[in-house]
Amino acid sequence: MSCIFCQIVDKRIPANFIYEDDAVVAFPDINPQAPHHYLVVPKVHYENLLAVPKDSDVFNRVYSAIDQVVNKAGIAETGFRVVVNTKDDGGQTVPHLHFHVLGGRFMTWPPG
Ligand code: 5GP
Ligand code: ZN
Repeated sequence: MSCIFCQIVDKRIPANFIYEDDAVVAFPDINPQAPHHYLVVPKVHYENLLAVPKDSDVFNRVYSAIDQVVNKAGIAETGFRVVVNTKDDGGQTVPHLHFHVLGGRFMTWPPG
């Protein structure tokens, strides 16, 4: 398995987990775009947002993880942005479903 996020989930590639449970991990992005930039990653390999089975509870599990990450990081009050780049036009570069959580600065709109 060459998927880089599967290797991080399996702890074969190091990352500083800010959060982990049986379904999800979260760790800082290696190329941060904000003072706080975390990747919230389901442990099961889904290629993208559309690859998740309809009966999966993964989105509930990710939501719960994001809630805990933003509180732990101290950005729950000031605010943050959650981004899921999906496929080529969405700018997805790692084909393992992940949620960017960005905070610690004002986010402009529209995104690039
Ligand atoms: P995408 O472009 O697919 O939306 O997001 C992939 C993200 O993964 C990028 O922001 C990139 O910086 C990050 N990334 C890629 N490889 C690694 C890695 O080995 N470790 C960490 N922590 N982040 C990574
Ligand atoms: Zn994977």
